[in-house]
Amino acid sequence: MSDHLDLLVIGAGACGLAAAISAHDAGGNVAIIEKRATPGGNSSLSTGSIPGAGSRFQVAAGIKDSPEQMISDLTAIAGDHDANNITSLIAHECGRLCEWLIDDLGARMELIIDYRHIGHSVERLHAPKSRRGQDLVDDLLKFVEERDIPLAVGNSAERLLTNKDGDVIGAVVAGVDVFSKKVLLATNGFAANRELVQRFCPEIANVEYFGAPGSTGDAIEWGQSLGADLGNMAAYQGYAAVAYPQGQLLSWTTIEKGGVLVGSDGERFGNEDDGYSGFAAQVRKQGEFAWAVYDEQIHAIALAEEEYAEMSNMGAIKWSNSLQGLAEKANLPTKPLEETIRAYNKAATGSTNDLYGRKKFEMAPLQAPYAIVQVKPGLFHTQGGLKVDNHARVMRKDGSIIKNLFAGGGAAAGISGAKGAMGYASGNGLITALVLGRNGGLRAMHEINMQ
Ligand SMILES: Cc1cc2nc3c(=O)[nH]c(=O)nc-3n(C[C@H](O)[C@H](O)[C@H](O)COP(=O)(O)OP(=O)(O)OC[C@H]3O[C@@H](n4cnc5c(N)ncnc54)[C@H](O)[C@@H]3O)c2cc1C
Repeated sequence: MSDHLDLLVIGAGACGLAAAISAHDAGGNVAIIEKRATPGGNSSLSTGSIPGAGSRFQVAAGIKDSPEQMISDLTAIAGDHDANNITSLIAHECGRLCEWLIDDLGARMELIIDYRHIGHSVERLHAPKSRRGQDLVDDLLKFVEERDIPLAVGNSAERLLTNKDGDVIGAVVAGVDVFSKKVLLATNGFAANRELVQRFCPEIANVEYFGAPGSTGDAIEWGQSLGADLGNMAAYQGYAAVAYPQGQLLSWTTIEKGGVLVGSDGERFGNEDDGYSGFAAQVRKQGEFAWAVYDEQIHAIALAEEEYAEMSNMGAIKWSNSLQGLAEKANLPTKPLEETIRAYNKAATGSTNDLYGRKKFEMAPLQAPYAIVQVKPGLFHTQGGLKVDNHARVMRKDGSIIKNLFAGGGAAAGISGAKGAMGYASGNGLITALVLGRNGGLRAMHEINMQ
């Protein structure tokens, strides 16, 4: 690795890879280090979905959208929080970001028109055709390789190096001092660090973490030691329905299109309109497991998603032509399950109000043949982190900038509200990784070129 780096990127997920590519393309001498044996982090495990308000793909599909509409959507669920500046930034830049990925770089992504998912009033998400984050990561890795940007896996950054003024001048990597004019922290959040989760997000601390093991919150400790401010530390993304024991996500399409979740007593316990993230803590509160009930029509729609099809092939779904048969297969009490679905179906046809206030029923009422999947809730990632400005520069409590230090993605304070999981809109995780990574890379090179 060169001793004369312009930018040292710590972490090789979506944020780090986007930062490295943009800084390189702005003329920088860049290197990436990654502590795990393989790059990708949580970005590889995600569905690769990101919003792109006003992208040319939306325009071509005749979808009316704007940054203002996206800000209004995000604010409606996340409210006021410590990173309002980043909400506005993301809303204004995500459309162009999608075009950068697809048109400028050549990423294999498309606008999703089959569903919107939580937090979006119009079809705004763009994703790899496979709906797998691994495809996006593979594309970014290909762009990194094409540019000959060094990527050293199995190398953990241990701490930051500073000069006598407290300016960052590099990092200690696997015991070696690596000097760099700028350093960008792309190490994700702290969901794999049980102690930090217990301290900042206690309501989800007893839920299994389904993300990559590298998210141990290293950036938080380093930033704090330099006086960095933290934001939105109690916010997180949960997932209400991870198929058990397969460990695969049950696509939320099954619930959005009309499915419900019931507990071991065969009864529903809340409003599924809260979305896959917001509903996770409720699933955990009612018991260790829950069961998703939907039908064959909904299954046929979800089958278009590769990951769902894979989960189906793994035998996660049990089928029956009657609710009694379904209850027996899932070992649930028959009468309460029958009663629950009968009441839900009545609400879905509009003849009564839903017991839990659900408003969106899409393809319900449910009808035979019925499907059932045993699920448990999961923690996907934390949303709190270092407060940054629009150029991804890390800020102190007094609003001043820590010189030469940038952060993005899960390492930075996110846009999903101040606490809990209700403020998470689909794509909030990856889009902050990509936009802040790209902006950080560009700003780092701008500052170097101005010197
Ligand atoms: C199952 C799942 C599904 C998801 N689906 C979506 C989705 O569809 N859309 C969305 O927006 N978000 C989604 N998310 C969240 C999203 O994946 C993350 O918010 C996003 O990937 C964060 O990107 P990142 O680059 O900040 O972190 P990561 O992709 O996790 O990359 C961080 C990298 O830094 C490395 N690292 C950490 N510490 C060090 C160190 N000290 N030295 C060197 N390297 C280090 C890690 O090993 C890791 O490889 C999902 C998450 C999960 C778990």
